[in-house]
Amino acid sequence: MAERTRAVVVGGGIGGLAAAAALHRRGWEVTVLERAPSLEPVGAALSLAPNGLRALDVLGVGDEIRDLAAWQGDGGLRAPSGRWLSRSDAEAMAARFGGPLVLLPRATLVDRLAALLPSGAVRTAAPAHLVDPGDGKTPARVAVGEEEWEAELVVGADGVNSRVRHALFPAHPGAEYTGFTTWRLLIPLPGAEFASHETWGRGRLWGTHPLKDGRVYAYAATAAPPGQHAPDDELGELRRQFGTWHHPVPDVLAAARPEDVLRHDVYHLARPLPAYHLGRTALLGDAAHAMPPMLGQGANQAIEDAVVLAHRAPDLAAYTADRLPRTTGIARRSVQAARLNLADGRVVCVLRDNLIAAASKAVPALLLRGFDAVASWRPPYPSAEEHTEYRH
Ligand SMILES: Cc1cc2nc3c(=O)[nH]c(=O)nc-3n(C[C@H](O)[C@H](O)[C@H](O)COP(=O)(O)OP(=O)(O)OC[C@H]3O[C@@H](n4cnc5c(N)ncnc54)[C@H](O)[C@@H]3O)c2cc1C
Repeated sequence: MAERTRAVVVGGGIGGLAAAAALHRRGWEVTVLERAPSLEPVGAALSLAPNGLRALDVLGVGDEIRDLAAWQGDGGLRAPSGRWLSRSDAEAMAARFGGPLVLLPRATLVDRLAALLPSGAVRTAAPAHLVDPGDGKTPARVAVGEEEWEAELVVGADGVNSRVRHALFPAHPGAEYTGFTTWRLLIPLPGAEFASHETWGRGRLWGTHPLKDGRVYAYAATAAPPGQHAPDDELGELRRQFGTWHHPVPDVLAAARPEDVLRHDVYHLARPLPAYHLGRTALLGDAAHAMPPMLGQGANQAIEDAVVLAHRAPDLAAYTADRLPRTTGIARRSVQAARLNLADGRVVCVLRDNLIAAASKAVPALLLRGFDAVASWRPPYPSAEEHTEYRH
């Protein structure tokens, strides 16, 4: 087979768009097939850490995203009464990790990534399935209805319930319920003054953070059986569960409208995949390693995957070797963090909170240390300007 460089990406979420942009930079002809009628991301906002931002540098958009950083000054971990368990400030964190944590609307990131692609590269309303993963001699094949594409590379970026993953590894059990449900909202809160915080209660947590555009991103999680919905509306449920928590939680709940609240149960891949590729088909993002959101790394890891895949392709064994150990470790730590954050027992929670408060007092940056290896990641090739040398 004559070697061509046509790549088909299944899924136009953050991972799929980042992969398409990274492959396009390296001279691949890319097509993104997205099932939804438009590229509207699900979820309100998300945080990007220095590792994900360095991956975005490779795509040439790291600095414009860094400019959206809003958190300044004090912040940290609290108890529902408002007691601080651990304090940190934005400048110290940026100095430690080599850059800020940036909270931004998901739609902004999706727009920036989509703008890196040539016009016509994204096909929406295109639910795709893998017909053949390809091998050394034959191209991979993907179909949408009756229409079929041949490609030297297929990227399965189709999320936690990935059909591409199931086609490659049918014996894998797939995603399992993580044990908790989440709510997210992104609202204006004019005049509000508060310190960026995450607050842990018994079997529940809440976070509130400012965005540069003046809005506030708040999220909550509660241990619960899967598939439940509030009897009235989800805002009512949040008010019942969190209405008595410390400032600014009641203000956020008073300002929100029912239609501002998104609720999703969380699923993750409890069993790691044996590889992130088969033949000419690679998996990335949630399709490869869906994890609980406690470390805020799902999308960051998807963007890392994307630039490493573009660097390694068509050597997909090298891609798996680079990505599987790191993402498996981060996914495992996210599960452990979820257990700690959402611990339910009264005694366990008192012990947890007192231990964190005492340890943070003794060694102020203790909680941040655990994040060093995650945030210090660097891409396998340098920033956008130098990266152009690699283009075909
Ligand atoms: C409450 C919560 C908070 C989070 N916060 C953060 C955070 O702060 N920071 C962070 O880094 N991560 C966070 N995450 C994780 C992050 O949202 C995901 O890891 C990330 O969005 C995964 O991106 P993806 O592109 O792999 O998958 P997805 O975003 O799921 O995209 C998959 C895309 O594929 C499409 N698709 C599916 N099947 C097909 C098909 N057959 N054909 C064509 N298209 C298809 C879907 O429509 C979708 O557009 C959070 C997750 C949750 C639940």
